[in-house]
Amino acid sequence: MQLAAKRLRVALVDPQAGDLASGHSDVRAYALNAASRELLQALRCWPDAQHATPVLSMQVFGDHGGALRFDASEQAAPALNWMVDVPALEALLVQALGFQSLVTVMNEPCTAPLTVICEGKASSTRAQFGVDFDVQAYPQHALAARVDCSVAHQQVARQWFSTHQGQGEILAMLPLAGEHGSTCALVWSLSPERALAMQAALPDVFCQELGAASGQALGGLTLISARSVWPLQSASAQQWCGTHAQGAWVLAGDAAHTVHPLAGQGLNLGLGDVAALAKVLDARPYWRSVGDMRLLRTYARERKTALAMVGGTGDAMQQIFYQQNPLLVSARNWGMSAFSRSGPLKQWAARKAMGWPA
Ligand SMILES: Cc1cc2nc3c(=O)[nH]c(=O)nc-3n(C[C@H](O)[C@H](O)[C@H](O)COP(=O)(O)OP(=O)(O)OC[C@H]3O[C@@H](n4cnc5c(N)ncnc54)[C@H](O)[C@@H]3O)c2cc1C
Repeated sequence: MQLAAKRLRVALVDPQAGDLASGHSDVRAYALNAASRELLQALRCWPDAQHATPVLSMQVFGDHGGALRFDASEQAAPALNWMVDVPALEALLVQALGFQSLVTVMNEPCTAPLTVICEGKASSTRAQFGVDFDVQAYPQHALAARVDCSVAHQQVARQWFSTHQGQGEILAMLPLAGEHGSTCALVWSLSPERALAMQAALPDVFCQELGAASGQALGGLTLISARSVWPLQSASAQQWCGTHAQGAWVLAGDAAHTVHPLAGQGLNLGLGDVAALAKVLDARPYWRSVGDMRLLRTYARERKTALAMVGGTGDAMQQIFYQQNPLLVSARNWGMSAFSRSGPLKQWAARKAMGWPA
């Protein structure tokens, strides 16, 4: 994405980028918080009620009786977050581009005072500018798919931490298809071998394993999508902004950082980047260019702080639930239940996850 004065040029030079326009089918649903919703609503890109399901409650189950529960009503909020259908969101974003007279879609790179690099975690332009990406790979893959359940989800997001053959696993079943729906998007963090085995398993076998991992909480399950697998990592670029021969550049979204999907915060962080960058550029004095390094460093500092909060929490949870030491197992289950009863601490954590200041 390139910003030139008030004009925006979006360069789509990646072969996969064309998939967006053709409506490729991503089986995921994103948990988006109130801040992301506000931004997307302002852009008229918030999906309809069937494709953005408000989550009223979140229930987390440990592997030895620990349990944790968050409710929107405790926060006096309409929802903890919204489960947004990815293809529906992407279709709206592509459509919105067509109505922006200040945006020109290019099919080749162009020069501009500021290039915003938002090419995802494997960004080639970031590599071209010689920026190192510090990657911490997790010993798990995420398997995502969709299932129909015989029991309505009741707008509850459910998450189970469990152990399979000595390996920590995390399963999230997230409500889709509106408030009365009974479809769930699932994200299952498994050892790489088991993730590939579950991807290849017959649908009936897959649903049986899924039913066992979710304590049959959603009744009978029917697989209704393909199963996709992602290796898990957290990562951060060593440098978030700089200059090149034709102007300045800055990173945003997964090109700057990735976090464990356990926290459901990757795109929320990316949209936070967009909002923060737009704010810094909008508020600049008239004599500063959009490529002014002072502005870009302000943006980078602010967003690194946001990343440290979110990335650190997801990472800590991953580490705590990956360990199988019996003492730690009982401590974490006790800790979950104690946290669930801790009024102010739980309130603070919920508000952070919802994208509120605190
Ligand atoms: C299983 C799973 C579940 C997740 N769940 C959640 C969730 O619940 N909530 C949440 O907030 N986040 C979630 N995330 C994270 C979220 O998917 C990412 O943070 C988000 O997609 C990052 O968006 P992005 O635009 O920065 O990068 P990407 O989504 O990777 O998009 C980058 C795009 O740029 C294109 N591109 C690359 N190079 C070029 C180029 N040179 N020119 C033009 N285009 C280019 C790519 O083809 C791609 O389409 C999840 C991730 C996973 C793997």
